[in-house]
Amino acid sequence: MSNPTFAPLTPPRRVLMGPGPSDTHPRVLAALGAATVGHLDPYFLQVMTETQTMLRQVFRTANELTLAVSGTGSAGMEACVVNLIEPGDKMVVCVNGVFGGRMADVAARAGAQVTVVERPFGEIFDASQIAEVVERVRPKVVGIVHAETSTGAHQPLEDISKVVHAVGGLLLADTVTSLGGVPVEVDAWQLDAVYSGSQKCLSCPPGLAPVTFSPRAVSSIERRRTKVASWYLDMTLVRNYWGQDRAYHHTAPINMNYALREALCVTLDEGLDARFARHAQNHRALKAGLAALGISYAVAEGVQLSMLNAVVIPPGVDDARTRRQLLEEFGIEIGGGLGPMKGKTWRIGLMGETSQPRNVLLFLAALERCLGDQGFGCPPGAGVAAANDFYRRRTA
Ligand SMILES: *Cc1c(COP(=O)(O)O)cnc(C)c1O
Repeated sequence: MSNPTFAPLTPPRRVLMGPGPSDTHPRVLAALGAATVGHLDPYFLQVMTETQTMLRQVFRTANELTLAVSGTGSAGMEACVVNLIEPGDKMVVCVNGVFGGRMADVAARAGAQVTVVERPFGEIFDASQIAEVVERVRPKVVGIVHAETSTGAHQPLEDISKVVHAVGGLLLADTVTSLGGVPVEVDAWQLDAVYSGSQKCLSCPPGLAPVTFSPRAVSSIERRRTKVASWYLDMTLVRNYWGQDRAYHHTAPINMNYALREALCVTLDEGLDARFARHAQNHRALKAGLAALGISYAVAEGVQLSMLNAVVIPPGVDDARTRRQLLEEFGIEIGGGLGPMKGKTWRIGLMGETSQPRNVLLFLAALERCLGDQGFGCPPGAGVAAANDFYRRRTA
């Protein structure tokens, strides 16, 4: 008998152009409905092994300790911090947006002596600024966000990795938004602890956090004097489940892991370089269209993320009204500003499966309508025409 109170679940079909989750591939959604097996079933163990192999390819690493934490991107952040930090350890956290701020909070809760180094929201860090701080503080760990989803800024990591290692520190990087959308070179850049999330450029529903730890990070974990503060996220326990022993730790979310496996297959079938190029191309088309509407980016040219376009809301345009109209009339979700950028910016995501010409064109056409309805004077059709022009020139 059906429940008399609640109708069957029928979520609306959206175009997910916010800061995550992104649109999913049908193959990924189908995996969520596949038969659940036990978490120690040989079939599932095979799925875990395949997932690890593909995660290493996506992270471009040979790191043995590479797995998917059962939890969202924030669980990946906590996992990296609590495994590397013991009470009293020094950690430098680079804060130029909301997620860097969250990392500083997580580090302090883990008992780290935190030194925050700041840039204004939307700007990036220069290796020399970090060098000055790490030479003075001599931290065990430096934490930094590769793709700051709150501001749309793309932080280069390679030179910062060198200055951190020069003082014997470990570099912890947040690649939640970057992984699968722009290059993340864990081995080439010598990143020591890296976490991501399933729902951004990997285009899987939220619920898993890929992580990877360098041999240097693993030996630091093995030298701990105290137990990891979180039982659930303790890599010395979790790795026995994902490693040879297959010792029960917690029940892995089986179907979520199926979905991540499929999302990784889709990503690698496309090819990482092709995927990065697709993200870059659709970002440029969107930018051409927005420029024709007189809308500019909130971060400087050269540091803009392709998958997260933070743009300045034109004066006189109502933020909430525009986003509501986009959602209700066109089924398009975009993000508002976070922190000090609240009410000032929109965050337009072109992550993973969402990064398609049809979504760029649909969004621009819908935005033109919303702006027109508010009397914002832009030439009708100018945004769509500019984006089409960009695509036409690319294929000519
Ligand atoms: C989304 C995001 C997170 C948090 O991930 P959740 O899945 O929401 O827990 C952390 N860092 C960055 C840069 C993000 O974009």
